[in-house]
Amino acid sequence: MIAVVTGATRGIGEAIANQLIQAGHYVIGTATSASGAEAIGERLGAKGEGAVLDVGDRDSLDAFLDHLKTSDEPPLVLVNNAGFNQDNLSLRMKPEEWSHVIHGNLSGPFYLIQGLLRGMVKARFGRVVNLSSVVARMGNAGQANYAAAKGGMEALTRSLAIELAARNITVNAVAPGFIETDMTRALSEAQRAAMLVRIPANRLGSVEDVAALVGFLCSEHSGFITGETIQVNGGMYLS
Ligand code: NAP
Repeated sequence: MIAVVTGATRGIGEAIANQLIQAGHYVIGTATSASGAEAIGERLGAKGEGAVLDVGDRDSLDAFLDHLKTSDEPPLVLVNNAGFNQDNLSLRMKPEEWSHVIHGNLSGPFYLIQGLLRGMVKARFGRVVNLSSVVARMGNAGQANYAAAKGGMEALTRSLAIELAARNITVNAVAPGFIETDMTRALSEAQRAAMLVRIPANRLGSVEDVAALVGFLCSEHSGFITGETIQVNGGMYLS
C-alpha cells in the first residue's frame, strides 16, 4: 500500500516514514527542495521515494497531486506531518505571518486530503493522520497563528471523520508535546530545564514515541478509532 508522508526529511516525519516502511508500506516522502527529495529517495531505497512539496503553495500542491496520479495505485494512507511556525506576539503579527502559517498548516493539509479522497473512497479504505500540537489546546504566547492552525486541524479532523466513517476511512490527529528534534536540541540548558519541569514524565518525547502511534493509526487495527486527537506529551497537558 502506498503511504504519503509530508515533511519526511527529518524529525518526526522521518521517523513516521521509517515506521510505515517497517509496516510494509511503500512511502512517498516529501521535502521542500529537490535535494531534500533526492536524499529521501536515497534513504528509502526500493521501499519508497522522495518528492518536492510546499504545503503552503497551491501550485506545488497541484503538481504533487498530479505526480501521485502517475503511480499504478492511489495512496491510501496520508500523514499530514509537514508543519512550521512563524512566531510573533499578536500585537505585532503581520498579516503575512498569519496567512503563511494558516495556509501551510491548515489549508495545505486539507487540499491534500481532498486530493487523495477519491482513491480512498474507491478502495473503500483509507487512513489519514494529521499532526497537530499540544499548543492547539494549551495555547502559547507568540503562537496565535500556529495554535489556531493546529486547532483548526483538530476541528477539521472531526468533521472529515464523520463524513468518511461509513466508507472505512478514518481521520485522526496526533498532538505532540515537546519532542526531541532539531528545534528542541537547539535550546539552551536553562530553556531545556524550564521545559522539563512542566513534563511529569521528566523527559522530552522521542520521534519514535510519536511515530509508533501514527503507525498504529495507519494500520488496519485502528479501524474503529476516528475523529480523535491523541496527545503524546508525557502528561504535560491533560484534558
Ligand atoms: P521539523 O523537524 O522542523 O521538520 C519539518 C518538516 O516539514 C521537514 O521535513 C520540512 O521539510 C517540512 N516542511 C517545512 N515547511 C514546509 C512546507 N512549507 N511545505 C512542506 N514541507 C515543509 O518538524 P518536526 O519537529 O518533526 O514536526 C513535525 C510535525 O509535528 C509538525 O507538523 C509540527 O508542527 C508538529 N509538532 C512538533 C513538535 C516538536 O516538539 N517537534 C511539537 C508539536 C507538534 P524541509 O526539510 O525540506 O524543510
